[in-house]
Amino acid sequence: MTYYLYHMMQEEYHISLKPYNTFGIDVLADKLIHIQTLGQLNELIASKVFITGSFLILGGGSNILLTQDVKGVVIRNELKGIELLKEDDNFVWVKAMGGEVWHEFVLWNIERNYGGVENLSLIPGTVGAAPMQNIGAYGVEIKDTFESLEALDLKTGELKVFLQRDCKFGYRESIFKNEAKGNYFIVSVTFKLHKRPVFNNSYGSIQQVLEKNGVKELSIKAISDAVIAIRSSKLPNPSVIGNAGSFFKNPEIDETQFNALKAQYPSIVGYPTAAGKTKVAAGWLIEQCGWKGKRVGNTGSHKDQALVLVNYGGVKGEEVYRLSEAIKQSVADTFGIHIQTEVNII
Ligand SMILES: Cc1cc2nc3c(=O)[nH]c(=O)nc-3n(C[C@H](O)[C@H](O)[C@H](O)COP(=O)(O)OP(=O)(O)OC[C@H]3O[C@@H](n4cnc5c(N)ncnc54)[C@H](O)[C@@H]3O)c2cc1C
Repeated sequence: MTYYLYHMMQEEYHISLKPYNTFGIDVLADKLIHIQTLGQLNELIASKVFITGSFLILGGGSNILLTQDVKGVVIRNELKGIELLKEDDNFVWVKAMGGEVWHEFVLWNIERNYGGVENLSLIPGTVGAAPMQNIGAYGVEIKDTFESLEALDLKTGELKVFLQRDCKFGYRESIFKNEAKGNYFIVSVTFKLHKRPVFNNSYGSIQQVLEKNGVKELSIKAISDAVIAIRSSKLPNPSVIGNAGSFFKNPEIDETQFNALKAQYPSIVGYPTAAGKTKVAAGWLIEQCGWKGKRVGNTGSHKDQALVLVNYGGVKGEEVYRLSEAIKQSVADTFGIHIQTEVNII
């Protein structure tokens, strides 16, 4: 049943969250509220739900694993709007509301030839969730073009501005996933984008696809098209088979540990990081432990992407969680490396 409260705020009771998470996990929420205006969000804060009750903020549901029914309120960010704030000779400052679909925001910029987010084409989810784990792909992270964000303090209702340094961005990390977890609702994000794009086509197979596409003159649209082609051919589509992208982060280890492993396993895959460590491909580690393509009940590691855990139909969140823990344990036992979960377990 659907009710409209708080200035036509849409509320649903005892509702399945299956359509609202890309894993397609069927759990119930006591209440689901769709936030479409800032006024609605403020009214919700005034109702003290964030102080007295339990809650879950939801964007596109593409980076969560729901392991149980949600007792309390699910608040879905559906705030829309993209605005050009200002520009100078070299840059534009673009503000997007948190409920905008990330890929649509990317396309909005590509249409206007504003460069910097094209390598992040086709990442599922919303703009508001993008800073949570500093989304990244093909050599680019949002911290590279991030200017600031506005977030509502859920306890006080105060709107706070976070600059780059406040967000503590790291590899798939930010303050919002750690010490400030659950304290803020990210309302909008502002990006500083290039009017004269700086192309980043060195990563992965982008160059190969550009050549295959016969691209003579590089453009952000050509890079975006290449990224879309690569992602579509490589990654399992959640609308076909439920998943939340990479379930695990690539671990970063000391060079000495990496060299010792390399001596034992010459095919191990690793890349040096700016911090002097080596980032090891978690997919390789998982594959070596025999998990790639292995099905366990209704879940398993994808046949082409060992890092991606999937829902073969009707899986429970706890089954996926148990599989993920078994995978972590076997990687630790085999390589002495403790891989971490990227997906938010709820
Ligand atoms: C097929 C596939 C491919 C993917 N590829 C990539 C990739 O290449 N790179 C990458 O970095 N990620 C990738 N992801 C993960 C995912 O797309 C991103 O993490 C995305 O930013 C999640 O957005 P969302 O709106 O779906 O967040 P949700 O899953 O809805 O939420 C994620 C977390 O953020 C919190 N949250 C959401 N919105 C807000 C808000 N407005 N304020 C405060 N907290 C909030 C939630 O409570 C939750 O803890 C992929 C996922 C899939 C399914």
